Amino acid sequence: MKVRILATPPDPATGEKQPAGIRIEDLPKGSTRQRIPVQALEQHQQTGHVTIEADRFVYHTVDGDVVFHIRQEPGRYCLTCGERLPDFGGNGRALEARRAQQCIDHVAAHGDKAVKSPDWPHGYENRPSTFTCEVEDLRGK
Ligand SMILES: [Zn+2]
Repeated sequence: MKVRILATPPDPATGEKQPAGIRIEDLPKGSTRQRIPVQALEQHQQTGHVTIEADRFVYHTVDGDVVFHIRQEPGRYCLTCGERLPDFGGNGRALEARRAQQCIDHVAAHGDKAVKSPDWPHGYENRPSTFTCEVEDLRGK
């Protein structure tokens, strides 16, 4: 999925371009999972193109509203049971190492049933800067 910002011609007085609206392109049909980067989301929120309703993001596009249900906050998740695991970072190396060990221990506790993937060989997914969402509703114009 791509979010395109549609700009108006520059303001003759200031030369600044004002965003006229946004359009979401390449949005798969059905209830497909999408990953939305935190940084992009914050930008679209600042420009008023996205609002938050409880655990949903509503993109106000030129084609109508698109509602995304948040399925996973940014963070680390066990591939076997889906449990949220401790995040690393921000608090020094000793704490990071301890949290990394907690994640490894958690996955090891699943034993032979532990799910690992080529992308996530340690058995947990690490997405510190994206929300995982599902398209819930297209409120067309
Ligand atoms: Zn688990």
